[in-house]
Amino acid sequence: MTANLGGTELAAAIRAEVAAAAAELTAAGTPPRLAVVVATADESSAWYVRSIARTAEKTGIACSVVDLGDTAAPDRIRTELAALSEDPAVHGIILQTPLPPDAIFEDLASAIDPAKDVDGANPLSLGRLAAGLPAFAPATAEAVLALLDHHEVPLYARNAVVVGRSNVVGKPTAQLLLQRDATVTICHRFTKDLRQFTRSADVLVVAVGHPKLITAEHVAEDAIVIDVGTNPTSDGGLVGDVDADSVTGRAGGLTPVPGGVGPVTTALLLQHTVASARG
Ligand code: NAD
Repeated sequence: MTANLGGTELAAAIRAEVAAAAAELTAAGTPPRLAVVVATADESSAWYVRSIARTAEKTGIACSVVDLGDTAAPDRIRTELAALSEDPAVHGIILQTPLPPDAIFEDLASAIDPAKDVDGANPLSLGRLAAGLPAFAPATAEAVLALLDHHEVPLYARNAVVVGRSNVVGKPTAQLLLQRDATVTICHRFTKDLRQFTRSADVLVVAVGHPKLITAEHVAEDAIVIDVGTNPTSDGGLVGDVDADSVTGRAGGLTPVPGGVGPVTTALLLQHTVASARG
């Protein structure tokens, strides 16, 4: 039996807490505000930003989308991030990807005040996370851990394998799993014989961006599989990196796409914003 490790119930519970905190902050004269800096015309990015803005407004967090256009120079983006960092009315800042070709995400994200870095994008936040110091973790990485906890998946001394090593998902997820005393292996595009590693996992986290990369032959019996991948389909839908049909019946649990990691990620971004507004 493969359990459906859904995220919508957890996301709703987090949003309810956030809404209560946002109402309190607003009544106390500090209405929480999130700013999303956009420098792309990418349609799936626009869809994601609209969804964050809608969810923020529903929970009582104001959301400003600062669209600099897809030809914005890196210095223009950096100046905007620095100005938002200085603005006392702004509590959370997200730098949306993709960026123009000459912009380097990590370099620009250094301009985000770590106290407002609600998606853990500033390399300082990632470094503090790695050192076990307080910092905002990237919301997606934290969502993976929140989902595992919500579904009561033990991590202590378990073998965890993370496929993908990006700074926004793979690496911080590995750090958070390490903090929980899992034995962590990171795989990436140059890993030889991916199956050999993934089959050793009690907990397998996949964050690649490649539909159906992971099939039953990559998964140990009863393993817990967290599918972070979000790949748009030609009919306007979304599929993950895991072939759900193939893995179902073998894995012990699998997160759905959509309805797994995604909604928890958005809820945690908002939770970070109210935490920042509280100071
Ligand atoms: P990325 O492109 O920055 O990184 C992909 C990683 O996958 C790289 O480290 C690469 O080495 C590895 N990789 C590529 N091909 C591989 C292969 N054949 N075998 C093993 N590893 C391979 O992507 P990202 O930003 O980390 O995002 C990964 C996926 O997660 C994407 O589908 C993205 O849309 C999704 N995502 C989802 C959420 C969410 O909230 N659900 C948030 C962020 C990203």
